[in-house]
Amino acid sequence: MNNPIQVTQSSMPAFTDYIDEIKDLWESKWLTNQGAKHAQLELEIAEFLKTPNVALFTNGHLALEASLEAFGLTGEVITTPFTFASTTHAIVRKGLTPIFADINPHDYTMQTENLERLITEKTSAILPVHVYGNLCDVKEIERIAIKYNLKVIYDAAHAFGVTVNGESMANFGDASMYSFHATKVFNTIEGGALTFKDSNLKHVINACKNFGITGPETIDYIGGNAKMNEFQAAMGLCNLRTLHQEIAKRKTVYERYLENLSGMADITIPTIQKEVASNYAYFPVLFDSTKTSRDDIQHELMKHNIYTRKYFYPLINELECYQSKFTTNPTPVAQQIAQNVLTLPLYADLSLDAVDCICSLIKAKLNPKKIIVSKGDIFI
Ligand SMILES: *Cc1c(COP(=O)(O)O)cnc(C)c1O
Repeated sequence: MNNPIQVTQSSMPAFTDYIDEIKDLWESKWLTNQGAKHAQLELEIAEFLKTPNVALFTNGHLALEASLEAFGLTGEVITTPFTFASTTHAIVRKGLTPIFADINPHDYTMQTENLERLITEKTSAILPVHVYGNLCDVKEIERIAIKYNLKVIYDAAHAFGVTVNGESMANFGDASMYSFHATKVFNTIEGGALTFKDSNLKHVINACKNFGITGPETIDYIGGNAKMNEFQAAMGLCNLRTLHQEIAKRKTVYERYLENLSGMADITIPTIQKEVASNYAYFPVLFDSTKTSRDDIQHELMKHNIYTRKYFYPLINELECYQSKFTTNPTPVAQQIAQNVLTLPLYADLSLDAVDCICSLIKAKLNPKKIIVSKGDIFI
């Protein structure tokens, strides 16, 4: 490849659309602190996610921290290590103890069979992660949470816009966190949001992201600062308009990968859950480490200027900063997946020729004897 192919590429509106959207900021001179764009984006996201309560944040991580704060959690929070560091860091940075549950071998979300065994009298919440757009076993998690009186907060950073049997994932659990980081399916440059069930929480959640301020002369909480500014919100308004098209384009890319790679003996492709309408956030592939290591594939692609990521590796419970402080239960399934998984480039404007080329390189590495025919000038 002459031009590098990154694992992702940010979705951006037409330049003139963004300029049109931000023009009135030069008239209002109102750049942050719950401005007009912020208010409009909250409404539009509530409509898009078919959910009543939305709070925007400057990023997903601080939204997650705010949710833990707003629920006044204490003690232990059960989560999974197969995630981005943010999930567990948020728990620890709020003074809570992470307890690691293993993941399912088929969709990489929290295993529910052994979940009850991890609950102690100190447990206050479960923080499962929707992975690659696949959803957790929300019904079983809800049953357990009710039985033990626990809060459920989903890390839904990967799942913006996903529906299950037509139902929005935003309405599961007590709250869900989304990331609108530049690399996510929907972006506001940096950004994030919480959706939550109890409307009474709006007050405290908004205070958490604005120094605890609750009125002109009242500061009721020791809050931080995590407000989304008007330029971020404007980017969100533009990107939300084209999100359905972006997801449709991602789907085409995803399906091209499937056409190329499914049925190969040395590759496992995690399937999208049947009843789920995915947002096609990632294209993860597992390699059989007894034959070809995923690291070899990654290096091979890198030689051709194609960049992949090990999402998620290393596992959070294997990080030194966790092992030295917490009892990190072994999670053998997560460990096995983390050692073999590679996420391939996927974004709306990735060309199908590029997908074919990436797949040919992978196949050539797996079956070196087979002759792979190059496509036009895609090969260097
Ligand atoms: C991106 C991501 C986050 C953090 O979101 P930011 O908006 O970057 O702060 C948290 N959890 C998961 C699973 C993510 O992928």
